[in-house]
Amino acid sequence: VAAFWCEQAWLGGEDVADGVVLTVTDGQITSVERDVPAAPAGSTRLDGLTLPGFANTHSHSFHRALRGRTHSAGGTFWTWRDRMYELAATLEPDTFEAVAAAAFAEMVAAGYTVVGEFHYLHHRPGGGSYSDRNELGRRLISAAERAGIRVTLLDTCYLRGGFDEPVNEVQSRFSDGAVERWIDRVAELEASGLCRIGTAVHSVRAVDPQSIRVLADWAGQRDSVVHAHVSEQPQENVACIATHGVTPTELLDAAGALGPRFTAVHATHVTASDIERLAATASRCCICPTTERELADGIGATAAWRNAGVEMCVGSDSHAVIDPFEEARAVELDERLASLQRGTHRPHELLTAATRSGYDSLGWPGGGRLAVGALADFVTVGFDSPRLAGTDRQADPLAAVVFAAAPSDIRHVVVGGAVVVDDGVHRRVDVVAELEQSISAAWAAAR
Ligand SMILES: [Zn+2]
Repeated sequence: VAAFWCEQAWLGGEDVADGVVLTVTDGQITSVERDVPAAPAGSTRLDGLTLPGFANTHSHSFHRALRGRTHSAGGTFWTWRDRMYELAATLEPDTFEAVAAAAFAEMVAAGYTVVGEFHYLHHRPGGGSYSDRNELGRRLISAAERAGIRVTLLDTCYLRGGFDEPVNEVQSRFSDGAVERWIDRVAELEASGLCRIGTAVHSVRAVDPQSIRVLADWAGQRDSVVHAHVSEQPQENVACIATHGVTPTELLDAAGALGPRFTAVHATHVTASDIERLAATASRCCICPTTERELADGIGATAAWRNAGVEMCVGSDSHAVIDPFEEARAVELDERLASLQRGTHRPHELLTAATRSGYDSLGWPGGGRLAVGALADFVTVGFDSPRLAGTDRQADPLAAVVFAAAPSDIRHVVVGGAVVVDDGVHRRVDVVAELEQSISAAWAAAR
């Protein structure tokens, strides 16, 4: 049993309490006591505002190696993808795991306590299995363990290069050839400790409707979450309608994929009737604002999602930046630019999207909350930085945190009851050194 005294804690909704003691037993919060004016003997003192840990609901960890290398050359999503494929073509298990561990460690230091790793790089360069067909998936699980982050491995089905195209040479690393073979492989992966196994359809471009149906049935039997990239680019809608006569969301619905376990990633260009469909099935949307900006995808219609009752979560996707505060505030600030209105999403709603909704989407119900029975995953934001100094802690500390905090304001991170980041320092990983080494090794192999 461990006890943590929080100078302030956000207990959900608009409830910020002073002097909160969280008791943790076996990785779960077993009591929440308010109005405790000083840290009890034997408790760990957390100065600042403690929040449930952030959920990075959509990640491709190896994309971290692209940062600073793809932003300035112009082009489109599709030319960015060519650059990403250069890297994807050559990564081997050691370089892949090293980049993932470093990226996950950066996430933890930034306040993310769970990540949904949308994992589609499965096989050897040029295709063909490793002797363990799940070599790279297992490497991701080890990387997460090393970094101290909770993970849902969203093993991603990818069978074709486009609506009427076979996979190309790079994409052959992604493909299992047939959905039955994908199932056969993923069935061998097991949940353990801080890891769960989820599933994903890469996109309606990469998986045909019949295979999506088989995948969704199988995921349903296992009670696994299902994620999919949906309508990130207008071109996907155009091609889907031309081929199948329906939008990507309609296609996924007809294949039985939508439902409370389903999350539509991006959903930037969904139609009004798609949004109704997502709401009616209790599906979620995961918005990835910093990536969507970077790739010129467009601005998600978050006001429409909200009005329809679609729950929203956030992800850093391509890791152009790893900053949960920036993802959360972008939801509101981008909406202001699009609508010329302020205040569509309140600070506590943005924080709920970035915490509880992400945990639910990733198949960790009970996470992302500071409540009895919740997973003991939490982070403390310090107010002793140039960004947050002068905040009125009694008035609206949530607004200060959402609109002005940065990853460097994260002082402490606790995952499953264990302190992973202490006073701003990752206890196990030298994050900067590991990012440096792993990314230069990855590109050395690519050239
Ligand atoms: Zn993605």
